[in-house]
Amino acid sequence: MLNKAIIRNKDGKGYSKNVNDKAFINKGSNNTYYCVTDSSFMKSEEEKLRQRQLMKEFQRKEKETFISGLPMEITGFLNLFDVLNEKLGIEECDHTLRFTEQFLSIHQLPLQEVVLWLNEYGGYCDCEVLFNIEEKFENL
Ligand SMILES: [Zn+2]
Repeated sequence: MLNKAIIRNKDGKGYSKNVNDKAFINKGSNNTYYCVTDSSFMKSEEEKLRQRQLMKEFQRKEKETFISGLPMEITGFLNLFDVLNEKLGIEECDHTLRFTEQFLSIHQLPLQEVVLWLNEYGGYCDCEVLFNIEEKFENL
């Protein structure tokens, strides 16, 4: 028996096609069919995989660029976040980078460079450092 079915690729593009073997199509919602052996479907799976790889590569490079642009070691930042979390748990942020600057001078870290870098990423005061910058270090 010949059936007219709408073959819809996973990317949403559909076209009608005569199908005589229901074994290789899966009925989806809205009377559309997902053709599992359709070559364009396979291509779109390959394409998805390729795009996922490109995205991974992009993210890896982005991470590398981010790390190489850091004005101090990653551990320096992690320690800074710990200190800020602790200090701001006791005292409110006064809209300056006082605790950050304190931390940097105590540990003899490059204050000006780090502050400029923090500003660039939206850290203009201690609480903004936690809000805007801490998350950037989560997956490093
Ligand atoms: Zn603040």
